[in-house]
Amino acid sequence: MEKREIAGISEELLQKCVRCGSCRQVCPVFNVTHEEPSVARGKIFLADMVNKGKVELDKEIAGFFNLCTTCLRCAEICPVMVDYEKIIISARALAAKKVGINPEKELAIKFFSNRKLLETTGKIASPFTKLFTKKSRSPGNRLLPVKVPKLGKVLLPEIKSKPFNSKDKIFPARGKEKGKVLFFTGCMFNNFYTETAENTVKVLNILGYTVIVPREQYCCGAPAFFAGDLETFEKMKEKNLKGLSSLKVDFCVTACATCGHVLKKEYGELLFPVRELVEVLFENIEEIGKWKYPERVKVTWHHPCHIVRGQKIPRSYPIDVLKVLQNVEFIPMEEADNCCGMGGSFKLSHPEISKEIQIKKAKNTDKTDAKFVLTECPGCVMNIAEGLERINSQVKSLHISDLLAECIK
Ligand code: SF4
Ligand code: SF4
Repeated sequence: MEKREIAGISEELLQKCVRCGSCRQVCPVFNVTHEEPSVARGKIFLADMVNKGKVELDKEIAGFFNLCTTCLRCAEICPVMVDYEKIIISARALAAKKVGINPEKELAIKFFSNRKLLETTGKIASPFTKLFTKKSRSPGNRLLPVKVPKLGKVLLPEIKSKPFNSKDKIFPARGKEKGKVLFFTGCMFNNFYTETAENTVKVLNILGYTVIVPREQYCCGAPAFFAGDLETFEKMKEKNLKGLSSLKVDFCVTACATCGHVLKKEYGELLFPVRELVEVLFENIEEIGKWKYPERVKVTWHHPCHIVRGQKIPRSYPIDVLKVLQNVEFIPMEEADNCCGMGGSFKLSHPEISKEIQIKKAKNTDKTDAKFVLTECPGCVMNIAEGLERINSQVKSLHISDLLAECIK
């Protein structure tokens, strides 16, 4: 397996930026801070100075490299198509080696990359969560009983006592089998949103796919990758490849935007293609057109950054799917493809900036007057649910699999 070596930030990549400033118009972080180091242009300039030895890569400069949700809006608008993700990951990797990783990010990496720790935490904490937290309007989530200074309401996904992939599982297709698929569940579905994982399987089964959920799968490594801890990322990748590569499947499905983005872009050695759930749904749109939600309902949609920009999946796919569902009325949301503010561990390292971005998303959601805001990423589901609680909105945040499962009951 090819090992990633970060000796510096590619000069060629950095020189591509023509300093036009277009990225300032779209960057959600710059929109809050209005400071140049928040935006791609500022970070590219700093990375260039570091490369040339004109600026020392200390904690302050590393902090600027972390001031980004990696939403890739800058990369999308950039007239010269700067590979911003490559630059920022290299810059963070260099910073990680030189000054270490931010403590909140380090904690997230340790927690999510250690399956045993995650599962033991679930076993111990799960029975107490209902005692010490309050129910959220959005299912599968809990609220801390007291407001946190500067943040207000804080929501956590409900940790489960038993992971979804507690053992190897095979869920046979209903009717004629179209194919065998591997469901890459990732940590959020395995340990928190297990009901959504079950709903995803039901949807795939009814569409004619036999679903294989192996025990030997781990966090995709995204928390480590986006923090620049490439050593941990490579270890996670190696573990996953060892467990998954021998499987005989037609393709791998993910229902988490970030898992999909990382698997497609960084797991070149997989022997089968990776597809995001929205792609599979779109391919089966004719069948889905026969499905009916039990009552008339208005829904809206949030586009996860790592689906529309990370994987470049057309924005029309999930919208077209929602539009064919009977009894479902789709209401567009303003700035539906703007980041929700989560940005993986960005929410932990920069909670106040993250909150401002999140509240904007929650307000745009609330304006639609929909019953549900749907998306296809557990991180976005959770963060939008929290934003909606913070503004006291009645809208519920759901994964698309949860709505579809109601249609096929
Ligand atoms: S990835 Fe998003 S948050 Fe980061 S610099 Fe680009 S637009 Fe701003
Ligand atoms: S839009 Fe692209 S070229 Fe323009 S300043 Fe931003 S990164 Fe540089």
